[in-house]
Amino acid sequence: MKAAPDDQLRLLDLQALDSALDRLAHRRRTLPEIEAADTLAARISQLAGDIVLVETEDSDLGREQSKLEADIDLVRSRQLKDQQRLDAGQVSSPRELENLQSEIESLKKRQSDLEDEELEIMEKREVVQTRLQELRDEREQLLGTLAETEQRRDATFAEIDAESEKTAQQRAELASAMPADLLALYEKVRAASSGVGAAALHRGRCEGCHLQLNTTDLNNLREAPEDEVVRCEECRRILVRTAESGL
Ligand SMILES: [Zn+2]
Repeated sequence: MKAAPDDQLRLLDLQALDSALDRLAHRRRTLPEIEAADTLAARISQLAGDIVLVETEDSDLGREQSKLEADIDLVRSRQLKDQQRLDAGQVSSPRELENLQSEIESLKKRQSDLEDEELEIMEKREVVQTRLQELRDEREQLLGTLAETEQRRDATFAEIDAESEKTAQQRAELASAMPADLLALYEKVRAASSGVGAAALHRGRCEGCHLQLNTTDLNNLREAPEDEVVRCEECRRILVRTAESGL
């Protein structure tokens, strides 16, 4: 293939822009904030699940407590009624009196048992509510950190995108001025050679594969016409001859 030496030199500019675009895309994909945000979001979602479980535990205990309180009220009012009957002297038969007194005693005992149970539930609830507050605090804190991380990530995305857009525009301008066949060859080699399609020959070394060319290859390059598009014998990339090629 033939191409004007100036167009061959322009391939190096094109390559520099393409490499810059590749680096920008790589940086965008591998920003540490992306992984950090994912990890935070996963932890927050896990916390949300834990919070629901502990909330359920708390409301179950709350229901149990209300039921106990209702039972205690019932026992207390029954006891009060019995006591009033006793105080009013309405009960005359000794047997009935004895029954009433023993009922009052057993109601007192029942009330005290129920109150002990309630106390136990209140203690459990306190532990559960402390845990719930801890989980909510942690979630709140992580949501703040996530928002900051996403903000940083998006700000960097915006910077990278602006830089990419500018570079892509320069690249398009440069490419539009290049001969189509040279451009097509460059694209083909670039796709097959990890993003580097054209490399300078610098002091006898291919800047694409970083190998020193042997004397025979260098002699062939010396003899090749200026407008001949030459390739590296090692990596098959387009080799661009410059003033620093050492030929
Ligand atoms: Zn090479």
